[in-house]
Amino acid sequence: MSLSLADTVGKVRPSKTLAVAAKARELREQGIDVINFSAGEPDFDTPQNIKDAAVKALQAGQTKYTAAGGTPELKKAVQAKLQRENGLTYTASQIIVNAGAKHTLFTLFQALLNDGDEVLIPAPYWVSYPDMVTLLRGKPIIIPTEAENNFEITVEDLQKYLTPRTKVLVLNSPANPTGSVYSQEKLQALADFLVDKNLYIVSDEIYEHFLYDGARFHSIAQLSEKIRAQTIVVNGVSKAYSMTGWRIGYAAGPENVLKAMTVIQSQSLSNPTSIAQAAAVEALNGSQSAVDKMLKAFQERRDYMCQFLLTIPGITCRCPQGAFYAFPDVSALYGKSCQGRKINNSEDLAELLLTAAHLAVVPGSGFGADNYIRLSYASSLENIRQGLARLKDFAAALI
Ligand code: PMP
Ligand code: GLU
Repeated sequence: MSLSLADTVGKVRPSKTLAVAAKARELREQGIDVINFSAGEPDFDTPQNIKDAAVKALQAGQTKYTAAGGTPELKKAVQAKLQRENGLTYTASQIIVNAGAKHTLFTLFQALLNDGDEVLIPAPYWVSYPDMVTLLRGKPIIIPTEAENNFEITVEDLQKYLTPRTKVLVLNSPANPTGSVYSQEKLQALADFLVDKNLYIVSDEIYEHFLYDGARFHSIAQLSEKIRAQTIVVNGVSKAYSMTGWRIGYAAGPENVLKAMTVIQSQSLSNPTSIAQAAAVEALNGSQSAVDKMLKAFQERRDYMCQFLLTIPGITCRCPQGAFYAFPDVSALYGKSCQGRKINNSEDLAELLLTAAHLAVVPGSGFGADNYIRLSYASSLENIRQGLARLKDFAAALI
């Protein structure tokens, strides 16, 4: 008997962010004092009004299947959010709610991709984009970007990488892991080139609210009616409302795409958790004060982290304008050794930082950028102080 798995399984890597987070958790459970800079989630509790809404829904018996694409109440709240915050008008049939934005993206790629369809993904990228595309038999086409250009793609890049097989371009601003935020002018230049081209734009806007030093958020979908017709906006409540465990994400876009996603969801998930949907209604419709509070804390932590990183010899770092990650270039440390082990790449560095300095970071290799590591500042200022001191001592002790 030779029982085999699907061919695609062998081509997909486990999520690097989740793997490091799991390892850090494991060491902590063993009683090791690990400082965790791997977390891709705010360290704040979910705001009380949101938890109360979930309890109320539970007690009111909202414990049954809902409409596959999301409850009418939540779709309405998403509609109102997109109108209020982004000036984007969608009907209920142009919206879907899924089990987290990661699941939204997966369902979306399921709806869009045929075998061999090319998906343009600017690097550094969020870990899951290329692997999702591979899993669905599409072809991830990576567009490299440079720190000097704020890790942004240009029209020249698009001209170079666009082929007749290109089906989708993924944009993520503010970006994970680089923290880059596209200005309106830069987005407009991309939109002018992309308009009427035969491809979809997937705009992952999950870090929309995490902006620093006066940076402004713009969605490419806002730039014209025509570009909006090619764009699927992806967002969710995980980051803005510190609701990562609740698993609610959503998308808005052309009706045929959203209908296809809803059919797929009806045959796969059935519906996102009813109670989590009720909580997400409160997150979107209720007081937004928790978002502002969180943002103030993140600004302070970001400033501290960026300034400190600049004091570590061998490390260079741009100060990110958005999201909650610093993404320093650590390649000057490669070739050096720690405890007799040579550091050849970001994986070696991350592993040694964890075992020798008890500091968990995500290696840049997972984001398609091996010269870098990702440090999340979704952690208390005290943790950040201690973690960065460990990093500095570690770097100074390398020979
Ligand atoms: N997109 C990006 C860029 C992310 O960093 C994340 C965080 N994991 C997601 C999507 C998915 O978020 P979630 O599934 O928690 O809604
Ligand atoms: N988006 C977060 C991160 O990049 C959460 C983990 C994940 O879903 O990959 O760390």
